[in-house]
Amino acid sequence: MAGQLIDGAALARSIREQLTQTLAAAAATGAARPGLAVLLVGDDAASQVYVRNKVKACAEVGVASTLLRLPAQTSQDELLARVHELNQDPTVHGILVQLPLPPGLDESRIMAAIDPAKDVDGFHAVNAGALLLGQPGFWPCTPHGCMRMLDTVPGMQSLRGKHAVVVGRSHIVGKPVALMLLARDATVTVCHSGTPDLAAHTRTADVLVAAVGRAGLITAGMVKPGAVVLDVGINRDSQGKLCGDVAASVAQVAAYLSPVPGGVGPMTIALLLHNTVESARRHALA
Ligand code: NAD
Repeated sequence: MAGQLIDGAALARSIREQLTQTLAAAAATGAARPGLAVLLVGDDAASQVYVRNKVKACAEVGVASTLLRLPAQTSQDELLARVHELNQDPTVHGILVQLPLPPGLDESRIMAAIDPAKDVDGFHAVNAGALLLGQPGFWPCTPHGCMRMLDTVPGMQSLRGKHAVVVGRSHIVGKPVALMLLARDATVTVCHSGTPDLAAHTRTADVLVAAVGRAGLITAGMVKPGAVVLDVGINRDSQGKLCGDVAASVAQVAAYLSPVPGGVGPMTIALLLHNTVESARRHALA
């Protein structure tokens, strides 16, 4: 029997509708609109698409977005100066530097320059540390989206007694999602490119998160019957069609599966909006 799809697109829509209502109610009381500044350096084609989608989503819910396009030749100092300006700007509650940056720009220095209170991507070391320590901060949007999708699956609110396997150990997906699963009391295994016999691990997973970037890496034989599978990967198959890391055949084995497209992707944008609105709320209280 085919597993059930976890409809990330519908869930993301409901989060956006809720944010729209919250912002409309706040606007009626004269509250300022939350502001998101997006810095796009260079002309990477994929980044242009991602940024366009984020700006469009902001407009839909009532977040004021500013897109700052800078040429690929922008120096480290110029970019740092723009980030510092945005840190000081009271109308900006969220700052997003679209990655990857062109060669010659030090991503970690740029990310470190963002005010952690405006780091709505949740990539700053202060927010990464807060997640590690279980303290309030901004959670990175993609792993947060995974957890919100898991919330919709019966019996997944507590993961005590369950084994979660994360494939991928990046700072933006693999590691943070592992911490979030751990905070939900799962027993967590993190696999990566150096893990021998990946299937031996994935086959024991009650919850399997694939965040690698390899089309079809996770096949049906690697999945425990009845597992919940979250597919974070964004790839193109041999026909150029968008696909995840999880092969289509996994739907025959898993109880719940997030699709690509229409799964984690839309959730990432919804959680970015959520973080921006939350940042504006915290700034208003400060
Ligand atoms: P990354 O390249 O930083 O990390 C990939 C990870 O996969 C690494 O930790 C590596 O060790 C591991 N890996 C590589 N080959 C492996 C193998 N054969 N077996 C086991 N592990 C292996 O990538 P990332 O930034 O974490 O992104 C992962 C995927 O998720 C990409 O496809 C990316 O496009 C996608 N992504 C999607 C969203 C979204 O909004 N849906 C957001 C971020 C990333």
